[in-house]
Amino acid sequence: MGRRRKRRKAVVKKVVKVPTVFECPRCASRTLSITLKKKDENRAYAIIACGTCGLLDDEDFTDIPAIYQAVDVYAKFIDLYNSGRAKIKSISESGAGIGQST
Ligand SMILES: [Zn+2]
Repeated sequence: MGRRRKRRKAVVKKVVKVPTVFECPRCASRTLSITLKKKDENRAYAIIACGTCGLLDDEDFTDIPAIYQAVDVYAKFIDLYNSGRAKIKSISESGAGIGQST
């Protein structure tokens, strides 16, 4: 006959919104947005863009399973980024910037 401990039930069932904004590996701002677009029932693609430093990656995730969520893409992107294999471009890359001519 033990005492019954009342277990606190955490019944707060909020609909958890999956974040689509992450920390940018390049500038460390929390402005890295991941946009997922479905191509068809099974395949999708993702565009990764940072609003602060202009990082853009729209080539590495052009064919991903449609069940992928932004967090999955983000994890893979970080892997790629850290291994130096991510095909990163810059949004503001329009001629100016790197390689100034004297
Ligand atoms: Zn950034």
